[in-house]
Amino acid sequence: MTGHDVAVVGGGCVGLSVAKHLAERSDLDIAVIEKEHHLAEHQSGRNSGVLHPGFNYPPGSQKARFATEGTRRMKAYCAEHGVPCEEFGVLVVAQDDEEERRLHELAEQAEANGVAYELLEGEAAIQEHEPHAAGQAALYAPEAASVDSQQYVYTLAREVQRAGVTLYTGHEVTRLTAVDDGYRLATTNSTVECDLLVNAAGLHADRLAHQVGVGEEYQVVPFRGEYYEVVPDRAELCETMIYPTPDPELPFLGVHYTRRTDGKVIVGPNAVLAFGREAYENTQFDLADLRETLTYEGFWKLMASPTMLAVAWEELHKSYRKEQFAAAAARLVPEVTERDLEKSYAGIRAQLVTEDGDLVKEPLFLERDDAIHILNAVSPGLTSSLPFGEHIATRLLAE
Ligand SMILES: Cc1cc2nc3c(=O)[nH]c(=O)nc-3n(C[C@H](O)[C@H](O)[C@H](O)COP(=O)(O)OP(=O)(O)OC[C@H]3O[C@@H](n4cnc5c(N)ncnc54)[C@H](O)[C@@H]3O)c2cc1C
Repeated sequence: MTGHDVAVVGGGCVGLSVAKHLAERSDLDIAVIEKEHHLAEHQSGRNSGVLHPGFNYPPGSQKARFATEGTRRMKAYCAEHGVPCEEFGVLVVAQDDEEERRLHELAEQAEANGVAYELLEGEAAIQEHEPHAAGQAALYAPEAASVDSQQYVYTLAREVQRAGVTLYTGHEVTRLTAVDDGYRLATTNSTVECDLLVNAAGLHADRLAHQVGVGEEYQVVPFRGEYYEVVPDRAELCETMIYPTPDPELPFLGVHYTRRTDGKVIVGPNAVLAFGREAYENTQFDLADLRETLTYEGFWKLMASPTMLAVAWEELHKSYRKEQFAAAAARLVPEVTERDLEKSYAGIRAQLVTEDGDLVKEPLFLERDDAIHILNAVSPGLTSSLPFGEHIATRLLAE
């Protein structure tokens, strides 16, 4: 049995950022416990890698604050530590009048959140930024950036280890128990005891929280997001980043184009129910996970909405039929055809759903008995990771 003052479960960008800020602010003996042997295996290494500067979040919301501050801090962090990060800017394109109306709402939010933007009218103005994009209007946000999220996670890990944090990899926490003055964590390799706990276990955070009776009114429903890569000799079809106008009710929807820091252009993600919390292929099943989703009342209440059902059907088609995915991609860049796209990686979003069937859209963490359970490190969780991790560390130290 090993003892630490603080145990952080989960070595993703959130858990590592919490550990970094705890180490900077205290002399506590801190451990990060990660189940995989390699880092960035899940959400933090399987995403679009976009720093969202904060125009699409309501003014005054935590998301807006963390995203604007997070973008600025991440750029400085990447510059200081040599993590690839390119300030490409993003073009959010409207295809019809309704989308153009929403674009103006985004512009108001950008204004209120202090995010730089420019509204572009007509296709000619759009094509000055992206010669192959189509639409009737666009919002251009120059501060959006592309970052290598895997290198960012490894850099954070090296930094916390240098600061004295113990990083256990290959240690899956299988049982969390509250004991006198702290917690006992049984892992696949050893048992760890701690006084203070941070649960940053991403796709599995709800399960750990439930083991100590926390957050039982919530469950993670895993949604897979699949990407295609534009073949290298057609990568000029997107020079920077092209997004559709987001739907505020379904913020995680919308296939977009991202130029990565390695020059590759990826298209995606879609959002399809994953048949397992780590089922990255659309042929993969985890029966226990699937049963857990299908027996969750909140899931059925969510799916009872005709809009959600229609969306689920459409997204499923995009997953199993490449021509449907290519058609969605061609909405933004009409020249793109099926032949231009090659299957790439997938990520799975830990989407928290309430037992009433509502998608939790804001970051959610629950503080209980010397522990903080981060149940919804929702997108833009990568962008927000530095201020969010700092916020959690500050709260924990105040316990
Ligand atoms: C498809 C997709 C696209 C996205 N695009 C963007 C984007 O462009 N920009 C942006 O800002 N955000 C984006 N996000 C969101 C962002 O990636 C997440 O919000 C963020 O990575 C969450 O980090 P995390 O540390 O909470 O989770 P994770 O990275 O999932 O880390 C959790 C860690 O906990 C470990 N773990 C789990 N259970 C246990 C256990 N029992 N014991 C020990 N360890 C355990 C896991 O192995 C994992 O390493 C995207 C997400 C997805 C899925």
